[in-house]
Amino acid sequence: MHESEPSDDWKWQIANRITNRQQLEAYLELTADERAAFDGEIPLSFAVTPHYAALLKNDALRRTVIPTGHENNFGTGELADPLGEEEHRATPHLIHTYPDKVLFLATTFCSTYCRYCTRSRLVGKSAAGLQSLEESFHYLETHTEVRDVLLSGGDPLTMSDTVLDGILSRLRKIPHIRMVRIGSKVPVVLPMRITDELCDILRKHRVWLSLHFIHAAEISPETQAACRKLSDHGIGMVSQTVLLKGINDDTQTLVDLFYGLLEINVKPYYLLQCDPVRGSAHFRTPVEKGIQLIRSLHGNMCGLAVPQYVIDAPGGGGKVPILGAEQIRRDGDDVVFINYEGKEFRYPDPVA
Ligand SMILES: *Cc1c(COP(=O)(O)O)cnc(C)c1O
Ligand code: SF4
Repeated sequence: MHESEPSDDWKWQIANRITNRQQLEAYLELTADERAAFDGEIPLSFAVTPHYAALLKNDALRRTVIPTGHENNFGTGELADPLGEEEHRATPHLIHTYPDKVLFLATTFCSTYCRYCTRSRLVGKSAAGLQSLEESFHYLETHTEVRDVLLSGGDPLTMSDTVLDGILSRLRKIPHIRMVRIGSKVPVVLPMRITDELCDILRKHRVWLSLHFIHAAEISPETQAACRKLSDHGIGMVSQTVLLKGINDDTQTLVDLFYGLLEINVKPYYLLQCDPVRGSAHFRTPVEKGIQLIRSLHGNMCGLAVPQYVIDAPGGGGKVPILGAEQIRRDGDDVVFINYEGKEFRYPDPVA
């Protein structure tokens, strides 16, 4: 029988996060570039759970969380807030970009920080107090056009059961809200957080999970068990994958990931073109590459396993599914396309 270890406890994992170079070197030998990045000023938050650190022998995963000098290079068109979220901030915790759906930024904390995070301007930085949530609930109660709430952050599943249950209970009391989702990477970076108690809370409030996966190497036995447990509790799950250069931008890597997700009852939902956040140039692929990849998946794998390839329109035009090359136009270093409102948006995609 498997003896319970302290590391099986999610609170232990958070308390023992790796937050500096010395702790990380207990897991891996760092490259000169990685060491130099730690010795300089790291612009983005850094932390990794011991669970995820043990997976970093995989080179693809390693690049998603370990700082390098590249994140200090700001490319043309890159922004601290690429999706124009600050302009759509309705309350300290709500981003209202689309007519009927709202993004609820419940925390700025993540157990592990991704180097390409769209919200790197916020995550791990300001401690957004929960005290002002009342204003956000009031906004949702009075904005009867809102039907869909996506709880995100930061990672909401790092909050305590009590806090999460409290927020979900309030949302479920609002009759016009029909859909409640939580965006999370917890089943990947902190799978021991998926306890029976948490599953009961998610089931009680009929929550869907939108999970963040990058690579099949993340589907560890612990992550498989966590997703199967969620599924056994009747929780619907979809995944979002950011397309990342040299990490998952080839057909075989995506096929392995998407079949791996179906096997744990997670439906691949979005393959996201990497947002032009500051210091992301080394992660971004040309849009043409994304189109070619998604084409190679259609017809060559189970249709359920194929996500929608989307560009989140810089400046806040919402997510635009890109089906083929006919839908985009090149204008110098920009890719130009039309969103659901018929408005034109530009994604900075420098011709190499
Ligand atoms: C992604 C996103 C949503 C949810 O969009 P779906 O396409 O319904 O998954 C809602 N609000 C904002 C601001 C978003 O970025
Ligand atoms: S888990 Fe999500 S919110 Fe947290 S750092 Fe990664 S991309 Fe950003």
